[in-house]
Amino acid sequence: MIRGAAGLIDAGLAQPEDRAALERVGARYAVAITPAVRALIERPDDPIGRQFIPDPAELDPAPHERADPIGDDALSPLPGVVHRYPDRALLKPLLVCPVYCRFCFRREHVGPGGGLLSDAQLEAAYAWFRAHPAVREVILTGGDPLMLSPRRLGAILRSLAAIPHIELLRVHTRVPVADPARVTAALAAAMEGNVPVWLVLHANHAREFTRDAVAALRRVGAAGVPLLGQSVLLRGVNDSVQALEDLFRAMLRARVKPYYLHQLDPAPGTARFAVPIEEGQRLLRALRGRVTGLAWPTFVLDIPGGHGKVPVGPGFLEDGAVRDAAGRLHALDEGGAPCGGPQPARGDKVGIPR
Ligand code: SF4
Repeated sequence: MIRGAAGLIDAGLAQPEDRAALERVGARYAVAITPAVRALIERPDDPIGRQFIPDPAELDPAPHERADPIGDDALSPLPGVVHRYPDRALLKPLLVCPVYCRFCFRREHVGPGGGLLSDAQLEAAYAWFRAHPAVREVILTGGDPLMLSPRRLGAILRSLAAIPHIELLRVHTRVPVADPARVTAALAAAMEGNVPVWLVLHANHAREFTRDAVAALRRVGAAGVPLLGQSVLLRGVNDSVQALEDLFRAMLRARVKPYYLHQLDPAPGTARFAVPIEEGQRLLRALRGRVTGLAWPTFVLDIPGGHGKVPVGPGFLEDGAVRDAAGRLHALDEGGAPCGGPQPARGDKVGIPR
């Protein structure tokens, strides 16, 4: 496991002259690269290396960036619980991850030191869920819940499933791609139960779906756990039509349904990853018709300041007409049915990148 400047330099992922700057970054934000991820990095600036190798620019935040970009802290009624929407809430049982992504929106909190909720804190969280019957879904996140032992993960899921109004559990994780060997049959079995558990895998590039990662996902799926994928649109990682197509196709081959494509949250020192929303819309629009609808995620923005997640398109309706996958407009009648043939493509207004 690579955890700091010395390890990065020894592995050929950083230059010796950058040691002091990387040590400053490492003192501020956690660094970890698993052997499985290291094996995927061909060059430090390739789509895998960019996600995990620290950069001195991380200590130079842009004016619009925020330590808590999606407002978790203000919506936390007690340690480990975040309640933003009426029918669901987050439980963060620990803040440890298998790797530390350089664009992470929780980068001010996650790290190998901890955030592990004590038994008393977990009991307090369960009591809070019992007292909030409108909450039907608990989303385990962190950190990464699959860094827990099978025994502890199973105990948490069973405790939540025993609350009568909890009808859905979700586990958000990077482990199957970042450290597939950690997904043992016992860890997968910990997610079996009477209340459905859905796994949401965070992956951003097709190359993350190695044979070991796909096998790990198979073990989870074999436990009756449906698999969803979430990705972040990242400059230099997946900001092309081909990269997104390859990523979503790799997910589907691994039985993972692409669920969300996130606009980057403005966490401190992450500006080098930013892709404008309009560019994300153009990329997704270009995928329409090019890939199966199963490969189509919802492109979402978490409104900074804790105002929640909203879909941000792309839309296909324009001024009483609908645009098809080839870029042609079709007029709609008042009932919403197409009337008349397609008009020529207007590449100037809504161009489709090829
Ligand atoms: S695995 Fe998730 S929580 Fe952990 S560093 Fe990456 S994005 Fe952040």
